[in-house]
Amino acid sequence: MMAEIICVGTELLLGQIVNTNAQYLSQRLASLGIDLYFQTTVGDNLNRLKSAIDIALKRSDILIFTGGLGPTSDDITKEAVCEYFGKKLILNQEVLNKIEEYFKHRGVKMPEINKKQAYVPKDSIILENRHGTAPGLIIEKDGKIAILLPGPPFEMQPMFEEYVVPYLEKFSKEKIYSRVLKFIGIGESSIEERLSELIHNQSDPSLALYAKPFEVELRISTKKSNGALAKDILDQMESKIRALLGEYIYGIDNQTLEEVVVEMLLQKGLKVSVAESCTGGLICNKITNVPGASNVFDRGFITYSNEAKVKELGVSEETLKNFGAVSHEVAKQMAQGALKNSLADIAISTTGIAGPTGATKTKPVGLVYIGVATKNYIDSFEFRFSGDRLRIKETASKAALDILRK
Ligand code: ATP
Ligand code: MG
Repeated sequence: MMAEIICVGTELLLGQIVNTNAQYLSQRLASLGIDLYFQTTVGDNLNRLKSAIDIALKRSDILIFTGGLGPTSDDITKEAVCEYFGKKLILNQEVLNKIEEYFKHRGVKMPEINKKQAYVPKDSIILENRHGTAPGLIIEKDGKIAILLPGPPFEMQPMFEEYVVPYLEKFSKEKIYSRVLKFIGIGESSIEERLSELIHNQSDPSLALYAKPFEVELRISTKKSNGALAKDILDQMESKIRALLGEYIYGIDNQTLEEVVVEMLLQKGLKVSVAESCTGGLICNKITNVPGASNVFDRGFITYSNEAKVKELGVSEETLKNFGAVSHEVAKQMAQGALKNSLADIAISTTGIAGPTGATKTKPVGLVYIGVATKNYIDSFEFRFSGDRLRIKETASKAALDILRK
């Protein structure tokens, strides 16, 4: 059984949004052991969508659609697919009740146009949408399968995991088991060099590296079909890698750096405060994205101007004058100030040049100092990051979290 992904949406063709649904689904199909040979992107246009379906049905067996299930007149995926599969759309009272409930829960009356989403083809499998109004659908006919999923990733992903994965498992040719190790503070090429024997001298499990800003992911994959055995294989490989590079591994699979940091602080019973200059609140944002952060996060100071650094954190004017705001000295004083003016046990600070302006001969774009202070310890670390402004901010915030982790 060969699959094809068809993403529907003119905004994808205009480059207004990145097609993360295609990436997500492709990765998941690969790990489910389902062959994917084509990805199609098509606008919200009935004729062109029909022609995409026409082509896909000739070369693929499982068509996975995302987008175009909304209530507005440009949402036409369901109508187009049903036309091809020769299915009539019928109002489903149960689905209608769910959509009405969805609106009631939010204290608004369901707009009449949303009724359109309660029409489903006869004999189809209805996939409940817990995060929106459009139900997903699985339609089967003559050995061909169409799976319709909503466009918004936060609706599509849980629906795919909950209903589509169990449905697709029977088509899997060979299951691939994998585990992702997440590295920080070490580059892709250094990892490759240090693991070169493991990477090149075997085919199963296989190792693949994938670089992200200031992070590298290493996927260990095995095709051994017995689940318990596969877990052993992954465990053994993970141990071998940890023996060589364990200090750089902060987590596995879907764990984020901020989750690991919050968990570590929770375990140690520590509270943190953050003083940010160049990262402008990004570190606080990341920490507070983690549920339960209130147990470990005390407060943040976004002190962008020199005046704010002096007034809010007690950085000395003389230090600012002598060393400049982007310096070890100021980073340390910021961290000390954040510790003193809060209820935290540990404080972290950032000061740097995110660019593209503001650089000098001695202080290039990407130069960032990260300070850390506890009652008995104070230090600062220098980094030279590359990339544009947003990338430097992102990287600096990750580096700061990595320092907290340690
Ligand atoms: P809605 O009910 O919100 O209209 P829909 O199923 O009709 O949902 P679309 O209208 O196609 O979906 O897209 C809605 C939003 O979902 C888009 O504005 C975009 O933010 C997101 N989205 C759609 N397709 C993709 C995609 N392929 N990758 C990432 N995000 C997407
Ligand atoms: Mg829509």
